[in-house]
Amino acid sequence: MSKFVGAHTSASGGVFNAAKNAKEIGAKAFALFTKNQKRWEAKPLDSETIDKFQRALDDAGILPKHVLPHDSYLINLGHPDEQKLIKSRMAFIDELERCEQLGLERLNFHPGSHLEKLTKKQKEDTELVTEIENKCLDVIAESINIALDKTSGVKAVIENTAGQGSNLGYKFEHLASIIEKVEDKSRVGVCIDTCHMFTAGYDIRTREAYDATWKSFADIVGFEYLSGMHINDSKPPLGSRVDRHHSLGQGEIGLDAFGFIMNDERMDDIPLVLETIDETIWKEEIELLYSLQKEK
Ligand SMILES: [Zn+2]
Ligand SMILES: [Zn+2]
Repeated sequence: MSKFVGAHTSASGGVFNAAKNAKEIGAKAFALFTKNQKRWEAKPLDSETIDKFQRALDDAGILPKHVLPHDSYLINLGHPDEQKLIKSRMAFIDELERCEQLGLERLNFHPGSHLEKLTKKQKEDTELVTEIENKCLDVIAESINIALDKTSGVKAVIENTAGQGSNLGYKFEHLASIIEKVEDKSRVGVCIDTCHMFTAGYDIRTREAYDATWKSFADIVGFEYLSGMHINDSKPPLGSRVDRHHSLGQGEIGLDAFGFIMNDERMDDIPLVLETIDETIWKEEIELLYSLQKEK
């Protein structure tokens, strides 16, 4: 089997529970927070917890490369305020170290936000917006370089965003611009979230739209960087720049797109992680995705 589908499972009570919860829903991949995602501080992982995590992973039959930890929502690697940027960078380094301690290979994160409050008129000034965005993309790339320099073994996996507020990463060009500035290209990758992609304006609903969108991804970013995906349907429509996930087949994207993904070998051997809204049906959603595969 070449597709590794799972969900962002709960690590409540300990990181090892994320692996146990993944096994329970028949997942072959999963995502987790290695610390409370709403807090800055976390106690270091002790050797017993690390042991238990690795045993739970073994027991679930899931490989480290199919685990896609997600960093804290507080971190903004493009923060315009110096002190807050430093705080984010330190927290990001800590997240990378935690992944390394757990024997994991990748850390998924949202690129960052410039936090400028632009008026409607300023937002229409594409030159101004591009200038602000480029400055922030430089800061993000520098943050990644600093963090990679201070850690080893774990790949920084940049997630595309819906482009809500001042979040960057909603264009393939943003991802490419960051990657271009990262010194160690072997330790940077991207995670494409289907909901974010769609609400950022990239259509994948029909065969033609799907092929065109991924052709543009291949040209601008490159499939060699695709290190994971978040598989979500979307509540808001195409190009709305709003980040609201939905259960598969119940949103604006619809099931065809997920069938295309499940039969696309460019998505082989990477974690495909559900972040859909009803976790009680994740087991069924995983089965549904595998049922869409033509060749098993
Ligand atoms: Zn996501
Ligand atoms: Zn989202």
